[in-house]
Amino acid sequence: MSVWAEVVGQEPAVQQFRRAASPEGSLAQAWLVTGPPGSGRSTAARAFAATLQCEEGTGCGQCQACRTVTAGTHPDVTVVTTDKLSISKEEVRGLVLTAQQAPATGHRRVVIVEDADRMSPGTFNVLLKAIEEPPPLTVWMLCAPSAQDLAPTIRSRCRVVTLSLPSPQVVADLLVRRDGVDPDRAERAARAAQGHIGLALRYATQDGALAAREDSARELLGLRGVGQAVLAAQALVERATAEAKEHADAVAAEEREHFLRSAGIDDGRVPPALRSQVKQLEEDAKRRQTRLVRDVLDRYLLDAHSVLRDVLMLQLNAGRELVNPGVRQDIEATAGRGSALVTVELLDAVQTSRRRIAGNVPPLLAVEALLARVAISLR
Ligand SMILES: [Zn+2]
Repeated sequence: MSVWAEVVGQEPAVQQFRRAASPEGSLAQAWLVTGPPGSGRSTAARAFAATLQCEEGTGCGQCQACRTVTAGTHPDVTVVTTDKLSISKEEVRGLVLTAQQAPATGHRRVVIVEDADRMSPGTFNVLLKAIEEPPPLTVWMLCAPSAQDLAPTIRSRCRVVTLSLPSPQVVADLLVRRDGVDPDRAERAARAAQGHIGLALRYATQDGALAAREDSARELLGLRGVGQAVLAAQALVERATAEAKEHADAVAAEEREHFLRSAGIDDGRVPPALRSQVKQLEEDAKRRQTRLVRDVLDRYLLDAHSVLRDVLMLQLNAGRELVNPGVRQDIEATAGRGSALVTVELLDAVQTSRRRIAGNVPPLLAVEALLARVAISLR
């Protein structure tokens, strides 16, 4: 199957990439792939990298080049993924050095930066020089939620490809075709995930994930007092912190073990010369955890937004399908009691809360303020 088969619901972007990769196309050396989380930015960037390396020139999915790019083992395709809060200047300097090298076996050298928006302004400058005049066979691919997330100097040197969130139907079809999910379940999951492919897969395959989401929807619509809201916010932030810590700890342990093993140490004792490097790993882990807490909370807020949006759709008699049909009763009850105007204000409040958490407001404060507001409005 072609490497493009997983890039679903993005026909204009796929055409743009395929044209550029064809012999008649003009290949830009710096690309910026933008799109909301879950739209498949990195899948699209990898498919393009495979197409550039493909022995058939099409991204056939069968040849050695396509298969190794897809598996992440092609020597001339470097992918930088990060779950840290920021990409350091040193990391980017390393990438710039890689990008200077001629391809070892492939047609091009491709460097994909999955979260290019996580670079600090100083780091942007290091990158800028590299993408201004790359060696003739090097292609940079930066991925970010939107073009505004990158410095204008970088943006203006990139060819921009914009992905949109695929429709629930397209995502459901992918889950059925690729992951063998039962069609009904795939559709429920895709609708709840609102086009976010990774989340849809999680809802479809992880037992209890969808039920937990419906429980928090009921809890949100059941908030009636400020005291109750404060407790709910506390519980929510605690859950998010625990989830993030579990994940960050697992990654940190793995990294530490890998680092010590590659340094030839197998008794777990860190010699003084390596202590600062191990300490750096631990600090990275802490930063990663901070970021994960924010990601988990943002997912919760997006869910809350979809529940309130369902309430609004009923209040406006919009005749649209609900994102959360599993909690229809609670949504109907809320819609019947309140006014659309209040619901619109609450939707705004959710977005404000997301912005505050993405900024530097302590998550607990932001969530408390939001839930208290919901509780008062729904009373
Ligand atoms: Zn191929």
